[in-house]
Amino acid sequence: MKIRRIFAHRVELPLKEDSYKWSGGKSVSVFDSTVVGVETDTGLVGYGEVCPLGPFYLPAYADGVRAGLRELAPHLLGLDPRETAKLNHGMDAALKGHPYVKSGIDIACWDILGQATGLPVCTLLGGRFGESVRLYRAISQTPPDVMVQNVAGYRDEGYTRFQLKVGGDPDTDIERIRAAREILPAPCRLVADANTGWTQHEAMRVVRGVRDLDVYIEQPCLTYEECLAVRRNTNHPFVLDENIDSLEMLLRAKADLAMDVVNLKISKLGGLTKTALARDLCVSMGIAMTIEDSWGGDITTAAIAHLAHSTPEEFRFTSTDFNSYVTVSTAEGAPQREQGFMRASNSPGLGVQPRQDVLGPVVVDVS
Ligand code: MG
Repeated sequence: MKIRRIFAHRVELPLKEDSYKWSGGKSVSVFDSTVVGVETDTGLVGYGEVCPLGPFYLPAYADGVRAGLRELAPHLLGLDPRETAKLNHGMDAALKGHPYVKSGIDIACWDILGQATGLPVCTLLGGRFGESVRLYRAISQTPPDVMVQNVAGYRDEGYTRFQLKVGGDPDTDIERIRAAREILPAPCRLVADANTGWTQHEAMRVVRGVRDLDVYIEQPCLTYEECLAVRRNTNHPFVLDENIDSLEMLLRAKADLAMDVVNLKISKLGGLTKTALARDLCVSMGIAMTIEDSWGGDITTAAIAHLAHSTPEEFRFTSTDFNSYVTVSTAEGAPQREQGFMRASNSPGLGVQPRQDVLGPVVVDVS
């Protein structure tokens, strides 16, 4: 089986809430997503998706996905998409870095491998653990009283994990965390995710200000060293995200005991192949994970569901269902949330069929 064409659609994903805001005044109201197709000489077509969280979250931006595909795709024609390690080796030889560009192609090739073998991607990634995958809800940064109302609304929809977008004024953030914790039953987990937004002294004030509360602290500061300093001065469970963008950083953070949970995003690490490698390493090292992506729609949500569902349950801290945040459905068969949980499809591959009428024109076409 050979790759004979790689193409992509650009699709806009407006949010159900007006906008999604996080630290430093950053916000997005319409996500710019790229749905990547890989077509083979057998007629099988696989799909992947890459959707950066705007151009200012990670070193990734939406037009960069498309530009990168135009650069990379000609080097991949003729490769066997089922040979995912060889495919990744080929991508890394043709284009240095730019993991997010490679992510959509890699996901599409896992979709093909699943279709070709008649197996769901979660089976190929190690097997299905448990009945379903527990979800968290990200709570956009707004004044504390609005945030707490949103937490209450999603709690009533069945979510049991919440990620508050903090990383703003430390005193307001302390208010946000206190107000949210107060309305959540004890078994619910609350994460305060600063998305690199606090300086070190601000982070130190916040962790002291919420010392009596059951709350996880995620990526308080910009650099790894600042986060480590905060980590060493608090006993809150600690999550690293933005800084863990490679296996090297994962191993370094493990050696430093720098985190209790790590956030693995598929496009941050370069696709399912590389994120599954990081996932397996975390399982071996005893580190729990948030398994997700930067953003996306139905296809991203399906990829997350397969990776999460193939992870032992005790190491799955949480995942998310991005397709429930946006107004547009780009594919049939994607996981749908039920009471704060989702499950990976039992169909071959990712188990999704893109809606061609929604995807619109092809904007990258290499054959
Ligand atoms: Mg995070």
